[in-house]
Amino acid sequence: MKPVIYLDNNATTRVAPEVLEEMLPYFSEYYGNPSSMHTFGGMLGKKVVEAREKLADLINADPGEIIFTSCGTESDNTAIYAALRSNPQKRHIITTRVEHPAVKNLYEHLAKNGYRVTWVPVDRKGNLDVEYLYDHISDNTAIASIMWANNETGVIFPVEKIAHALKEKGVLFHTDAVQAVGKIPVDVKKAGVDMLSLSGHKFHAPKGVGALYVKKGTKFAPFMIGGHQEKGRRGGTENVAAIIGLGKAAEMAKSDMVDEMQRVRMLRDRLENHILDTVPNTLLNGVRENRLPNTLSVSFEYVEGESILLMLDQLGICASSGSACTSGTLEPSHVLRALGVPFTAAHGSIRFSLSHYNTQEEIDYLCGHIPRLIERLREMSPFWKQAASCSTQ
Ligand code: PLP
Repeated sequence: MKPVIYLDNNATTRVAPEVLEEMLPYFSEYYGNPSSMHTFGGMLGKKVVEAREKLADLINADPGEIIFTSCGTESDNTAIYAALRSNPQKRHIITTRVEHPAVKNLYEHLAKNGYRVTWVPVDRKGNLDVEYLYDHISDNTAIASIMWANNETGVIFPVEKIAHALKEKGVLFHTDAVQAVGKIPVDVKKAGVDMLSLSGHKFHAPKGVGALYVKKGTKFAPFMIGGHQEKGRRGGTENVAAIIGLGKAAEMAKSDMVDEMQRVRMLRDRLENHILDTVPNTLLNGVRENRLPNTLSVSFEYVEGESILLMLDQLGICASSGSACTSGTLEPSHVLRALGVPFTAAHGSIRFSLSHYNTQEEIDYLCGHIPRLIERLREMSPFWKQAASCSTQ
């Protein structure tokens, strides 16, 4: 296989070699069950405790406030169902128009099952309409689930401000921080959130492990009912090796994140400036400043995102498009539609998401190809020809 330039890190990341090394013995040598009474199993319980401490340290939680789960989706579902079960009389719930399907589809499901949903809009730059959110909080609101940072645009929401407003009205606040943790500082105490979801595979731990932070004193009902693991808050034998990996990834993020992300931001900006300067009719999706340092979403007018992805793939470059295949047609994602990206551009949207494994050579290789790649696709596009002829008339 030819070498790959991997710019799809919001989809998933490479497991860091240090993380893998730390995990390996726990598949073969030390394979006991952490709940067992014998020393062989008990030793694993200690490793789980250590991992919990490292993860808690990354987000400034107390270790007892961390529940290990199987992924971000499970954490989101657990948090939302926990809030609904602890407030069964409240039938109104709040979220945004740009959540990941892990929250969006659950809210749509709840809407079909008797809950009234407020979908908070965003503006053209992806900023949340916070006033709209405040205006819709009521005594009947059970939970607001508002993401920390958007997976497509990277736009960061004002979590601390929102937490403050929700607290005043006594509404539980869950935030999906799956894209934020490991990329930007996340401090649960400072932010004042009640629950927070994160996922290992977004910051160099393996897939299949996540966590939910639940603030001490928050009423909680388990989603996975089973054994007494996680103090009865999540049944199921712990994925010990993956939890150890998550702890190691958290430790690494804690020590390197700020410096590493500074370098990643420079690479992302280099790519962004090059694209916006050299490719005409290209729009940036999202605000320029208040964004995850690794994420760039751009829309190339009059071309199909899928064609761009295929041509990038031939160059060994992995990225993702802003379209979702629904019933056989490629529709712009709900996020781009919520931003109001014009139809002619939304179809040609591409997300590049970097990690600290990317190099300047890789970015320059992409920069060297992208203007010509888009030009070639536009030469084949009837819409582009039509637009070009209109602008010369
Ligand atoms: N929330 C956000 C914002 C995400 O980006 C993702 C994954 O892309 C998820 C939730 C789901 O996480 P997982 O893949 O661990 O279930």
